[in-house]
Amino acid sequence: MGLDIIIAAPRNTCTGGGIAGSTLALGLAQAGHTPTIYEREEVRISEGLLAMPDFGAVGGGAILFRPISRQNSSCYSPGTLAPPTGVMITANGLQVFKNFGVWDAIQREGQRANRNVYMNRIDGTPITSFKVADDDEHVCIMRSTLHKIINAAAGELGVRFVCGKRLQSFTQTARSETEKASVKVQFADGTSATGDLLIAADGIRSKTRELLFPGANDKPIYTGTRGFLGLTRLEDGDPWLTKSAISFYMNTSNRTSVNMMSVGNNLISWNVADHQEEPAEVDSWVPYADFPREAERLAALLESWNAPKDISKIIGNAHRISPVTIYDRKSIESWTVGRVTLIGDAAHGMPPHLGQGTSMALEDVGVLVELLRRFPAEPDRCLRMYEAIRIPRTTKIAEQTRQMGASQYTKSNMQRFVGELGLKFLGWVVNTFDVRVYEYDYILEVEKQLKIESNTAASPTKWNKDEI
Ligand SMILES: Cc1cc2nc3c(=O)[nH]c(=O)nc-3n(C[C@H](O)[C@H](O)[C@H](O)COP(=O)(O)OP(=O)(O)OC[C@H]3O[C@@H](n4cnc5c(N)ncnc54)[C@H](O)[C@@H]3O)c2cc1C
Repeated sequence: MGLDIIIAAPRNTCTGGGIAGSTLALGLAQAGHTPTIYEREEVRISEGLLAMPDFGAVGGGAILFRPISRQNSSCYSPGTLAPPTGVMITANGLQVFKNFGVWDAIQREGQRANRNVYMNRIDGTPITSFKVADDDEHVCIMRSTLHKIINAAAGELGVRFVCGKRLQSFTQTARSETEKASVKVQFADGTSATGDLLIAADGIRSKTRELLFPGANDKPIYTGTRGFLGLTRLEDGDPWLTKSAISFYMNTSNRTSVNMMSVGNNLISWNVADHQEEPAEVDSWVPYADFPREAERLAALLESWNAPKDISKIIGNAHRISPVTIYDRKSIESWTVGRVTLIGDAAHGMPPHLGQGTSMALEDVGVLVELLRRFPAEPDRCLRMYEAIRIPRTTKIAEQTRQMGASQYTKSNMQRFVGELGLKFLGWVVNTFDVRVYEYDYILEVEKQLKIESNTAASPTKWNKDEI
């Protein structure tokens, strides 16, 4: 019999994405469990429409919702929604979508990017390019489109989405002779829900993480980068649509950069990174309203950085721009206490220098679903193995991400020269030896861990049955 699993939280909001929760719910439902997703955002709907203006595929931050399953849902899954940007998913993350049956829709709607990734100086001078091997392809896709595909598939399987539920606290009950172990979640509106497991996909500012490890002095760390996410619709025939899927332009002396990627349907998603003070308020990725003034301001900024004219033109023609502040989260040695665990950014939020945040979340999902599919009656064992497989991997990728971030800041021309030489060498190695940079087979990782387990005595799961 499947487990009742509580997931906080799933849905794409202006704050980030929520791909981890939704994909997890899809996989768990396929594996025979009963996941319920609780999302903090309040979504009030009349006649299937959110009471906010809809800006369409390239518009503002508002969202048009449609019901996914009237019998099962007390809220609605995003239909056409407009979170502000695209996302690149690499081969390691795509494997999960392939195995969960949503790959056809994703490749149809997104832009497959099995071509080159270009690295340039901010003025357009090429540094190097990485040829992505054919079977190591990436997909660049609008976050909204991706979410719509995953939530529709999860909805078909009867996954319940419950919105307006901000997780505030939880209590765990240990197994007794008469009762099985359970988790009771309290929401800010005074309601509660009980399940066999709580899997927290509540993002880089995870409340659950704070509750699990109080006193850990573990707050999101500002990276010094304040960025702007934007979207521009190009005309048919614009050379940028075929030029390349992913291009970076950077000035390592002052830590400014621009990144462009085609996300399908003639849309270019881009981000501009600037070095600024940390803003006083947590930003919500909500697009600027004073448009097109903001586009003009950013295009002029790019020109002052000496960026190529076609780049500043794309930015000047943007249909939407949102501010975003980049945070990091220190890697921790445990994600689980009893029947509560973390996943995605909640477990290992990292800056986007390697474009691996979502793919790491998807790898987590693949491993956890595979374990709970194989051992549905042994959730404690699954959580223990999940940590053993995923913590070393995500810690390593987060460290590489930080190194990449550090390499994008040079204090002298000599340092820049050496940094560029290093990048050129890396490009040469990848291209010459056809390196699969993003190779990761989550099923194989589960197999490996099973072998390790069979060779060693399993260690007991940490358990804290006090009220948290
Ligand atoms: C500028 C930028 C560009 C990026 N580009 C890429 C890229 O190209 N490729 C890539 O792989 N990664 C990229 N990333 C990283 C990626 O966005 C994240 O790793 C990913 O979105 C994490 O997904 P998540 O589901 O774990 O968390 P989130 O997307 O943050 O979702 C968390 C969800 O939990 C909800 N929630 C929060 N608190 C509560 C609560 N108390 N109760 C209930 N619900 C709650 C939120 O409303 C939200 O829906 C980028 C990040 C940034 C900032």
